[in-house]
Amino acid sequence: MTKYYIAVTYEVCEHNNIYEDMNEYRVDSSADIYKQIKEFAKTDVAPLVKVYESDTSDFEELRLYKEYQFKEYECGCNQ
Ligand SMILES: [Zn+2]
Repeated sequence: MTKYYIAVTYEVCEHNNIYEDMNEYRVDSSADIYKQIKEFAKTDVAPLVKVYESDTSDFEELRLYKEYQFKEYECGCNQ
């Protein structure tokens, strides 16, 4: 069965209690998912990207598929 994926990038800063979704991207499930996620994270400088999966292309029902963390894009508040 075909699955559909969207990725949501998040801005996170524990020091200032920021945990906000930024952008939503369609993921091409026939290609390397992680590669696409890395590009989204880079574009938005997002330390966290959540990927949701759906059985239908209208994304009516979403399930959290995976979370990806990118240490290199974490905020530098405590440095
Ligand atoms: Zn911070």
